[in-house]
Amino acid sequence: MEKPQYALSYNNSKGTANWVSWHLSTAWKGNTERQDDFRADPDLPAGFYKANSGSYSGSGFDRGHLCPSDDRDSSIADNSATFLMTNMIPQSPNLNRITWLGFESFCRDKMNQGNELYIIAGGYGQGGEGTSGPANTIDGGNITVPSHCWKIAVILPVGGNDLNRITTDTRVIAIDMPNNQEVNQTFWGDYRVSVDFLEIVTGFDFLSKVPVGIQDALEEKTDNGPTQ
Ligand code: MN
Ligand code: MN
Repeated sequence: MEKPQYALSYNNSKGTANWVSWHLSTAWKGNTERQDDFRADPDLPAGFYKANSGSYSGSGFDRGHLCPSDDRDSSIADNSATFLMTNMIPQSPNLNRITWLGFESFCRDKMNQGNELYIIAGGYGQGGEGTSGPANTIDGGNITVPSHCWKIAVILPVGGNDLNRITTDTRVIAIDMPNNQEVNQTFWGDYRVSVDFLEIVTGFDFLSKVPVGIQDALEEKTDNGPTQ
């Protein structure tokens, strides 16, 4: 599904996206208030399961944004688009509100330091632990609880012709976080992995438009750069 604000691959058997991908730059940023208008995505095909605002209620899991609300606040329409339920996965509150949020904030900090970012995020596996204990699914089995939540961020200095500016020295950060309440509460950097690792556990080929030689070099590395 290609929306003006982000693109996503939806998985009807999981009741969530496989992944959501978006561009983060100052052009997407503004002062629009958080809309909080969680709702079913009307653009899913007829006959598909459609999570709605209440589908996660009482589950012990948060409606965790993949594309963050705070990455899209230049207009009401842009912010509201992040509250479509196709942009949500069930996340443990400690993951959503602390460790996952920490990396979201880091990405916005990098943007504020003169960068633009290409970000992809999703969940894989089955079985997480929220405030009501472990669960494989919620909403009567319609929504799979991922065991892990992952994200990849490609960080470029602001400029044009982005794909052609990606080199083997481009900073790429991949993270893989457990979807439970014990997830480290302060430091996202402990959860860095290689893109190759995420390709193995998800089955996807990320960064596939990057020339294969550069892609291979970027994907085998695990970032160890500054985390502030
Ligand atoms: Mn969140
Ligand atoms: Mn790849």
